[in-house]
Amino acid sequence: MKIKSAEFVISNSEVAKCPKNPIPEYAFIGRSNVGKSSLINMLTDRKSLAKTSGKPGKTQLINHFIINNNWYLVDLPGYGYAKVSKTSKRKFQKFITNYFEQRQQLVSAFVLVDIRHNPQPIDLEFMQYLGESGIPFAIIFTKADKLKPKAIERNVDDYCQELLKTWEELPPYFITSSSKKIGQEAVLDFIEGTNEEIESLKNHS
Ligand code: GDP
Repeated sequence: MKIKSAEFVISNSEVAKCPKNPIPEYAFIGRSNVGKSSLINMLTDRKSLAKTSGKPGKTQLINHFIINNNWYLVDLPGYGYAKVSKTSKRKFQKFITNYFEQRQQLVSAFVLVDIRHNPQPIDLEFMQYLGESGIPFAIIFTKADKLKPKAIERNVDDYCQELLKTWEELPPYFITSSSKKIGQEAVLDFIEGTNEEIESLKNHS
């Protein structure tokens, strides 16, 4: 997929106020500092569509962007920032679960994980939640430039082994680096292919 246009639409804290245009939507989520803003900018060929974080945990909003006038890219707040209070953690969870459970046109979530780290409980629990809620997801490994090819392979293998302890099938996954521009085509082609499938299902129903 070529990016012809990428525009910010709206930020808000309520799923009910998200854009009404019924086009396919893909949501990006992960721990604070995982490289989500950098990835969104890399995917869309824009320098600062998503704001790279100054203060982790600060951007607590659902941010909609429209890409090529035919799908929404959603930038969700980063989770797992240690310094937020219990109350704000609970509020955050509610706000995110409302989004995932109520947003009809959500096609898939992309859960971002830093390729350097072992599988983290917070990410695995979040994927478990998505699975139990029937929400398709793919994994995006970020910051691949920080490791050598062998270590990338080993870490991805370990991650898959961990997932296979609880999942029968592995989700799609992508290895990316925003600084080296790795993985852009694979992620965009996955989205394009999925959009085409949705279109053809619509035409046949
Ligand atoms: P967010 O909090 O998940 O939106 O993460 P950011 O995109 O703001 O990135 C967090 C930090 O990781 C910043 O210092 C980025 O420069 C760095 N970073 C993000 N992506 C990459 C990457 O692909 N490679 C490297 N080496 N650093 C990255």
